[in-house]
Amino acid sequence: MSFPFCNVSLPVPLRTTFTYAVPESLREMVRPGTRVLVPFRKKAMVGVVVELTEHAPADTKIREITKALDREPALTPKLIELGHWIANYYLAPVGEMFRAMLPPVIEMRTQRQITLTEAGRDAVASLSGGELTHGLARVEVEFLAKLAGKKEPLAFASAAKFGLDAGALERLRRQGLIEIRETVLGRTAKTQRVLAWKKDAEKDNAETQRAQRFHGDESQGVGGDGAQNVRGDEESGGPKSERDFDDKVRRVRDELAERGALPLALLLKLAGVSRAVVERMLREGLLESWEERVDPAEDPFDVGYEAPAHELNAEQESAFGAIRARFELGEFGVLLLHGVTGSGKTEVYMRSVQETLARGKTAIVLVPEIALTLWVGRQCRAWFGARFEGVAVLHSALSDVERAREWWRVRRGEARVVVGTRSAVFAPLENLGLIIVDEEQENSFKQEETPRYHGRDVAIVRAKMENAVALLGSATPSLETYHHARNGKYELLTLASRVANRSMASVEIVDMREDFQRTHQTNPMSSALRAGIQECLQQGTQALVLINRRGYSWSVLCRSCGASVQCANCSISMTYHKHRNRLECHYCGSIQSVPKVCPKCESKYVYFFGEGSEHLEERLRKEFPGARIARLDRDTARTKRQYQETLGAFAGGALDILVGTQMLAKGHDFQRVTLVGVISADSSLHLPDFRAAERTFQLLTQVAGRAGRGELAGRVLIQTYYPEHYAIQDAVRQDYGSFFEREMHFRRMMQYPPFTSLANVIVRDTSLEKAIVWSRQLSEYFLPYDGKGARILGPATAPLARLKKEHRFQFLLKSPRRSVLTRVLGGAMAYCEAEEIPQTAVLVDMDPLSLL
Ligand code: ADP
Ligand code: ZN
Ligand code: ZN
Repeated sequence: MSFPFCNVSLPVPLRTTFTYAVPESLREMVRPGTRVLVPFRKKAMVGVVVELTEHAPADTKIREITKALDREPALTPKLIELGHWIANYYLAPVGEMFRAMLPPVIEMRTQRQITLTEAGRDAVASLSGGELTHGLARVEVEFLAKLAGKKEPLAFASAAKFGLDAGALERLRRQGLIEIRETVLGRTAKTQRVLAWKKDAEKDNAETQRAQRFHGDESQGVGGDGAQNVRGDEESGGPKSERDFDDKVRRVRDELAERGALPLALLLKLAGVSRAVVERMLREGLLESWEERVDPAEDPFDVGYEAPAHELNAEQESAFGAIRARFELGEFGVLLLHGVTGSGKTEVYMRSVQETLARGKTAIVLVPEIALTLWVGRQCRAWFGARFEGVAVLHSALSDVERAREWWRVRRGEARVVVGTRSAVFAPLENLGLIIVDEEQENSFKQEETPRYHGRDVAIVRAKMENAVALLGSATPSLETYHHARNGKYELLTLASRVANRSMASVEIVDMREDFQRTHQTNPMSSALRAGIQECLQQGTQALVLINRRGYSWSVLCRSCGASVQCANCSISMTYHKHRNRLECHYCGSIQSVPKVCPKCESKYVYFFGEGSEHLEERLRKEFPGARIARLDRDTARTKRQYQETLGAFAGGALDILVGTQMLAKGHDFQRVTLVGVISADSSLHLPDFRAAERTFQLLTQVAGRAGRGELAGRVLIQTYYPEHYAIQDAVRQDYGSFFEREMHFRRMMQYPPFTSLANVIVRDTSLEKAIVWSRQLSEYFLPYDGKGARILGPATAPLARLKKEHRFQFLLKSPRRSVLTRVLGGAMAYCEAEEIPQTAVLVDMDPLSLL
């Protein structure tokens, strides 16, 4: 039956879908999950069909779909169901939800290809006697024989050469003799263009010198409108003005100066310029470019790597046994693998994936950091790559082309194991058997922009929808998860000791108050830590140093008036980046030049305060001049290659010291690290957030897990001003049980999760007045619900009172029953619509991780 209308989800921040007519000619192709091009207001937009219908709403003008983009629907019915569930549960705009599920829209060269099926092969064999069966004509038999002799699939178009038309081919397909598939060409494609700043460009080129004249006045901030939306004006012709071009040159140069060379697509994205700008820079001799191989099969990270295949020890065996038993049952279930750091959880994951594949099903492995997709991806390729040809990696540091390519490999069933970060939970696998969430407690699984879903929770919901198994793993499970495991909702599996009788690293506290009283130095590295590093260098082992902030100094203060330099758009102080010689806002990305005098009182006494990773790296280089040092944080690593180079160098012993932010804390299996130093263990304790203690405990325990993983014993130094806190005490003993009890006590007393459900509602607008009016209106709406199964606090000024130019007010909703929150908030959304409060002004965060 073919339907005349369909509902389309469009990438707009509205909580609704849109009805379009399906022209007769497209009825065959348009199905739920098909991406379509449609007219929307005055634009053409790509959306996805979520439903076919017989009727359209009577009172609106219905427009027609322009074009169908997929021959096979991009989204499976299960994914559409999941998308709707998320949109409902998190009160997220449907369109934004489905956008998060879809691959990037890029033009892919595809080809329809024909292959012989098993049945087709049999037919050819039985026909070799010359008998005609299956009611086949002679040309058809000859065609099948030809196919049987070919190693490669045949292009659909070349079938005409053999005298077969589309009708004949379709008949063969229906008889099950051949298969016709759409394949993306150039999947193993080959090279990409890489660009770098030409070394002597500054001297030789008059253009640049002119550009330099403008360097002084960065004060308007390139970030605000420059960084994101400069595209439109240049696509058609040259840059609007020379001044504009100089701005862009500067942005390109900044990115390249910071990162060395970059692939073209990424450079365009990071610098926010169009291809035309780069072409012109090449012509003017500012850049150089070359082609580099990008063959995924030749990942430099994989060279010479063999996956360890250990005999499982007794604990691993019993955990794996329980997982297998769950597969036997063939039904949904959640298991928590609680294993101390270095207990060999990965080995259990790999066996579980193997078991899943052996049962003819597919698997997703979610990890919390892009950096970890390298390790886990490599392991998976080593375990499953050759046999199933099919491991795909999905994360946000891939270029659009790479991401689309990987996505379609998965969608077409060419990859059966997907490794990725948060959004890989939407990988379009069919016949899903297992979703693993490694380090399930990590905050990075929560998306902090719309749609604000939690990857772990969505993994569980998806597993339930697809009757699959969800396996959560952690050394420090989140309170919610462990709570569920204790009361039997999840099955608890425990690995209590490290593999091969290795002992846990010894953890020592360095009380920074004492250190200061003794030395009177303001060095953020204690004497104990420096001595420890020295010892590593002498013994030829490695050290990791963690610091919680990136940049050089995280605040710029005036000694005369006490003012700090704030972001023009946010109530946040600007971070000084020395190498880039500018101030940056880590919230909105805006940029300011480094002030020589105080912007408020014009005093000359501005100073930089609070050391970040860039500063620490500089210190380490000064203090240990012979050592080989690298830094890994979001400033030095944005591309896969950059992660690979640094992590690979460290793992391979080409570095002595690695300094970085939290991204170093988790998961990595470095064998020669004997010392881990944590600069300020307690900085996260002071945040106005009920999860502060949990986060601190988890971070420190994870960090401690990076030391002593190989044959050598490990040592961890935790620097703190607050050694008495239970989060720190329990982390030192690496005693999860003790921490869990104490923290649960606190949560129960304060009525916080897991004892209650939470929702955070932010009302925001660039106009303070509007934000206040809308908050008041919403508060009136909430009033009758307060005390009836829910507590509603607010409106109050949000802790981040201003963000990206918007003023923010906050409501906090608490209820022991989440369904109550969903109902009240659903009503609130309808109320906003009726009162014409814009949907984008009210931000709902269900199960928030942070209340900022
Ligand atoms: P976790 O993720 O629990 O911190 P990993 O899975 O990274 O730990 O394992 C730690 C190390 O132990 C790895 O180098 C791994 O190869 C090794 N390993 C895993 N299982 C065994 C085993 N049964 N016997 C010996 N070594 C093992
Ligand atoms: Zn001042
Ligand atoms: Zn800002």
